[in-house]
Amino acid sequence: MRPSEVIRRSTDYLERHGVESPRENAEAILAQCLGTDRAGLYARREGLDQTTARRFGRALCRRCSGTPLQYITGEQQFLDLRLTVGRGVFIPRPETEGLVLAALETLEGVPDPVAVDVGTGSGAIALFLKHRRRDAQVFATDTSAEAVDLARSNARRLGLDVDVRVGNILDPIPKALRGRVSLLVSNPPYLAAGEYDSLPPEVRAEPYEALVGGTGVHRSLVLAASEWLAPSGWLVVEIGETQGREVSGAFRRASLQDVEVLPDLASRDRVVRGRLPG
Ligand code: SAM
Ligand code: GLN
Repeated sequence: MRPSEVIRRSTDYLERHGVESPRENAEAILAQCLGTDRAGLYARREGLDQTTARRFGRALCRRCSGTPLQYITGEQQFLDLRLTVGRGVFIPRPETEGLVLAALETLEGVPDPVAVDVGTGSGAIALFLKHRRRDAQVFATDTSAEAVDLARSNARRLGLDVDVRVGNILDPIPKALRGRVSLLVSNPPYLAAGEYDSLPPEVRAEPYEALVGGTGVHRSLVLAASEWLAPSGWLVVEIGETQGREVSGAFRRASLQDVEVLPDLASRDRVVRGRLPG
């Protein structure tokens, strides 16, 4: 059977099992099994050997039973970076591309900035900042040892010098940087515990600690801001769509200035940012 026929049949199969975007999923999974890309898939004439066919069948089954596509293909595009992702670590989302662009903007005109990404997961935010600002000194923290390993291996593979450390919030950051951080950025776990059960199985396949947290980390970061940020340094955080008022209120109470709530591409509140007085 030629790959185009395999794709047709597996698309039907995924569709019958309620997988969204079944054709894109079938193509991506088959390309991964054949070690090629989408163009290579359609250029190919020969069929699948038995081992590949079996591997492909198993991958389709995993997808139908709620494994996210990215855990099967092992990768996720984040702006112009291709990141390795895997089970046990949060998969970067498109909303977070907006967060990191809003964060990058705050570094304009700041020479040799120091940036810290709290709860780095695969390293997406920290790596993109370093990729766009080679003059920056970038740190990242995460409580998950698996996330720290993955972020470090993404940094090595992409040739980006980011200092990734395991630990809570800012605990692992060198104390000498207190009062010198130009940008504190985070996409923390922000879903409410009560939301967890109604999440789709794909999302529940990601670590609970990466998803559920309400505004706990946001509040810790607001408290840490005055101690860690340089004068005019920025705190930029991702939020759940209903958390804009609460989080921006906490920013103002901590005397942060120029506080704004920014929407994502679907016009939902998604980012809060504010800066320390200059
Ligand atoms: N920044 C990544 C991204 O946007 O793709 C991952 C975001 S994920 C929603 C939240 C991450 O924060 C998880 O990797 C989780 O392990 C980490 N985390 C949760 N609580 C934390 C804490 N108190 N201190 C540091 N990291 C934490
Ligand atoms: N946006 C995530 C979701 O798809 C939640 C991300 C987070 O808690 N930071 O549910």
